Amino acid sequence: MKKRTSKAVFIDRDGNLIFEKGYISRIRDIRFHKRSVEALKLLKKHGFKIIVVTNQSGVARGYFPESFVAEAHAHIKKELKKKGLAIDAYYYCPHHQKASIVRYKKDCACRKPSQGMVDRAVKRFNIDKKNSFTIGDKLDDVRLGHNGGMKGILVLTGFGRWQRSLMAKESVKPDYIGRDFYDAAAWIIKSGKKQEAK
Ligand SMILES: [Mg+2]
Ligand SMILES: [Zn+2]
Repeated sequence: MKKRTSKAVFIDRDGNLIFEKGYISRIRDIRFHKRSVEALKLLKKHGFKIIVVTNQSGVARGYFPESFVAEAHAHIKKELKKKGLAIDAYYYCPHHQKASIVRYKKDCACRKPSQGMVDRAVKRFNIDKKNSFTIGDKLDDVRLGHNGGMKGILVLTGFGRWQRSLMAKESVKPDYIGRDFYDAAAWIIKSGKKQEAK
């Protein structure tokens, strides 16, 4: 087997990269968190692949068409390009068990915290999960990391504060709890430096 050589940060979209707006279905509702661009820059500078992994069950629930997800990601791409930045890949799961639209009704292997989306990226970019991280505002983002043998970080933007209040009951322990995406990224870089010093 080929050696896995790249390291990645799997980032949640809504409530982390951009503001949580509850099933975003309009381009004008896409707004970056203030320090998201800085966070992306920092991770890029340190050689991380940056992969968006997002559950978009709004498709299954009939709130917006699947084509909107592509439109939204094209918009994000365009906005980041203006800042000279690019995210390496965008993956989404449009499915849900309780879908109102039949063709999206399934218990999908790519819905976070399952590894479907991560594993597609792992193959494509030759990612070593052991040196990789997840960042998001839900405990499922942390579980996504832990289920894959990665470190999982919870951010307090979006649903983060509410999710933090459920940690004990759901026995999920994030490796770090960050104020926002940038804080999480800075912790990743710092923890990497500590490893090198050992
Ligand atoms: Mg989220
Ligand atoms: Zn899916």
